[in-house]
Amino acid sequence: LQKDLEKSEQLRVVSELAASVAHEVRNPMTVARGFIQLIHSRSNLTSDEKKYLLLTISELDRAQSIISDYLSLAKPDDKTHSPVSVFKVMDKVRHTIQAYALMNNVSVEIAVPQNLSILGNEKELTQVVLNITKNGIEAMESGGVLTLTAELRDDHVDISIKDTGQGMSKEQLKQLGNAYFTTKEKGTGLGLMISYNIIHSWGGTVSVQSKKGEGTEFIIHLPLLSEAPEHQVVPPIEQYINKS
Ligand code: ADP
Ligand code: MG
Repeated sequence: LQKDLEKSEQLRVVSELAASVAHEVRNPMTVARGFIQLIHSRSNLTSDEKKYLLLTISELDRAQSIISDYLSLAKPDDKTHSPVSVFKVMDKVRHTIQAYALMNNVSVEIAVPQNLSILGNEKELTQVVLNITKNGIEAMESGGVLTLTAELRDDHVDISIKDTGQGMSKEQLKQLGNAYFTTKEKGTGLGLMISYNIIHSWGGTVSVQSKKGEGTEFIIHLPLLSEAPEHQVVPPIEQYINKS
């Protein structure tokens, strides 16, 4: 119990820190982008110089989007609870990741009923599904299939994000959701931590099934339009199933 409390305190601190860092870093980046654009508009530049400036701008934009993906939605003042259409969120995510999937030779299949709603926050659910979906695509280095589904179970909704990627070992599975756990060269190790934190704050849980070399399925279990808990005390125990 002590360990769980420490972990939820750690999550809270990291998520507050993340929100303020995201905010602070954005402004100087916007200023830098503006000056580069100004220089780019000058007529005495060689075409190579123009090319480098455009590359710099696109790299700055990429950094901005990393910040938004991982950190901006952690804003503490934007945590209203209302009915959220699961279809709307999943369809938006499908749209957002389309180019990324194509780039990675991944085809996306989606089957979500139109009438499912959960009680939560649309931006946060979008961030959760987006983070897990991105991981799925990144796990399929030589292409594959990503399947997004949602289903009504008795009193909750199951959202499933399944890939045919590299899969994980038991050791890796145990570390999912820990801050800064990453096996990627340019990974942040923040995506799942933030996602799990959001799911737990709604009284939801996550289960993960993974088999090395075959793929991974994340299932998010969310209460169906029931009241979210007022305080997040201890994250529910994750259920990890590893078939290998
Ligand atoms: P990041 O993506 O920046 O590494 P995340 O918190 O999103 O951070 O993920 C943490 C780690 O969990 C990843 O580095 C990877 O090792 C593992 N992981 C997450 N999702 C998958 C998946 N679908 N398939 C294989 N490994 C995964
Ligand atoms: Mg990630």
